[in-house]
Amino acid sequence: MLVSLTGISEMKGVCMGDGGLSIGGATSHATVAREAAAQYPALAALAGQIGDPAVRSKGTIGGSLANNDPAACYPSAVLASGATVVTNRRKIAADDYFQGMFSTALEEGEIITEVVFPVPQKAAYVKFNQPASRFALTGVFVAKYPGEVRVAATGASASGVFRWAEAEAALSANFAAGAIAGLTVDASGMIGDLHGTQAYRANLVKVMTGRAVTAAG
Ligand SMILES: Cc1cc2nc3c(=O)[nH]c(=O)nc-3n(C[C@H](O)[C@H](O)[C@H](O)COP(=O)(O)OP(=O)(O)OC[C@H]3O[C@@H](n4cnc5c(N)ncnc54)[C@H](O)[C@@H]3O)c2cc1C
Repeated sequence: MLVSLTGISEMKGVCMGDGGLSIGGATSHATVAREAAAQYPALAALAGQIGDPAVRSKGTIGGSLANNDPAACYPSAVLASGATVVTNRRKIAADDYFQGMFSTALEEGEIITEVVFPVPQKAAYVKFNQPASRFALTGVFVAKYPGEVRVAATGASASGVFRWAEAEAALSANFAAGAIAGLTVDASGMIGDLHGTQAYRANLVKVMTGRAVTAAG
């Protein structure tokens, strides 16, 4: 499918709208890191940790979300924020968008034009780097909204990004790192490879969640 140059330029940029912070689908990670800093600091900080300066100047939020690499950073922010993925055909809720490793709700020829993030009261992303690629060996995004905390982990599960429901319930009752102390993450669905075993990644989900809650303040 061809997108006109005018169309692509309209898909770039960061602005505040009625539904939250709107980021054009062709917006680079570097632009998000710079232009979202005032409105959604945790999201800007996530974008600023992606890869290296060259990756951040070329990589885009739409490309990252369409690819849905199981170790990509943005999927955790989109899922934890309950964001809306807007395409040239429809609006897709984050909970419906991610459908497994490298798999999404996008159909043939469907283009992500915009992603809309409701801005939380508090949020943070903490990433345990895979040191060679700088992708997330495990990364966790925590977002606190009125009456609800959402927790999404990337890099860990063989099914791609996922919400940790038990932590969300515990943190909704008490937004403190200690609230998840008694919880464990089931290691059976985790990725196990030369970088880390399934049990290692399961433990990282818990450790990164605690650190994200502390960082969110
Ligand atoms: C060395 C290196 C380190 C990296 N480190 C990280 C990291 O730490 N964290 C992280 O999250 N990512 C990381 N990345 C991935 C990077 O951030 C890019 O987002 C990712 O490679 C996708 O590239 P792109 O955005 O240019 O999309 P492309 O490569 O252009 O596209 C990827 C796919 O999505 C499709 N696509 C592109 N845009 C759209 C759209 N708007 N709508 C629908 N489909 C679309 C394309 O057709 C293609 O199939 C790293 C990449 C490299 C090379």
